[in-house]
Amino acid sequence: MMAEKEILFLNPVFVEMIWGGNRLASEYHYDIPSDKTGECWAVSAHTKGDCTIKNGTYKGETLSSLWKNHRELFGDISGDRFPLLVKIIDAKDDLSIQVHPDDSYAKKYENGSLGKTECWYILDCNENANLIIGHNAKDKEELQQMINNKEWDRLIRKVPIKKGDFFQIEPGTIHAITAGTLILETQQNSDITYRLYDYDRLSNGVPRELHIEKSIDVIKTPFEEKKAESKITKERNYIKEELVNCEYYFVDKIDVDGNQSFHNAAPFLIMNVLDGEGTIDDISIKKGDHFILPGSYGDYILKGKLSVICSGVSRTL
Ligand code: ZN
Repeated sequence: MMAEKEILFLNPVFVEMIWGGNRLASEYHYDIPSDKTGECWAVSAHTKGDCTIKNGTYKGETLSSLWKNHRELFGDISGDRFPLLVKIIDAKDDLSIQVHPDDSYAKKYENGSLGKTECWYILDCNENANLIIGHNAKDKEELQQMINNKEWDRLIRKVPIKKGDFFQIEPGTIHAITAGTLILETQQNSDITYRLYDYDRLSNGVPRELHIEKSIDVIKTPFEEKKAESKITKERNYIKEELVNCEYYFVDKIDVDGNQSFHNAAPFLIMNVLDGEGTIDDISIKKGDHFILPGSYGDYILKGKLSVICSGVSRTL
């Protein structure tokens, strides 16, 4: 088979976290390092967790080395690093309340790193669960005051969630994932997080580092809610929901029941199988598989009963 027509299946990287659990093993059947595994880096070329290719011509190579040496697989787009990072997050406990900088702040204060825009697809959550998105301070002064006085309940804004909800988290937005939530996160390839509050927890006997000054620097006031507006296409064999299309990425959800041909026009296409089983062009795929269709791949056929998140960058970038 020509390498340009090969699907790149990925071996995820697992990250242990004080708030992590074991659902990546119990529900996705991954071989995880411990019962405190918080993150599956499903599609990553980040230096802190670089996925390797599972199959074919490039078996064993890292995604970052393919990005560097085989840019034709990614539509020959420019960029010094693979642009996206896709994770599954298992929050057994609450994550810290945090905020990310944008590109210009990160470039200046974080050694040229990228900022972080991210988005969340809720895979599962408890009944009556909430996420933290945004805050209630009217300006920087009130923000500073509420933080100094540790008025977290007044400051943070809670949003009710259910399975299948989707949220775009812009840089400068206070946010936190709460206990019991499983999330598929698509984000810019960056690991820059400013921790504002960590519920006074201890990690190995000491509190994790907070970044109060930088947080206050980057938090946008007042918080402005932007409702994600998705576009839904319903056909006989599939439903396609276009969840977001922003400067950094697009994310679609496709549910197939039967046999359906699709066209990919993006420079490459990331696919994460959320549920079900079936095939892509007669190759078996199932819940928990993550792969990339190279830019030259073209049309593909999904068969079976499958829920898939597809993401990538626009050709215009
Ligand atoms: Zn975040």
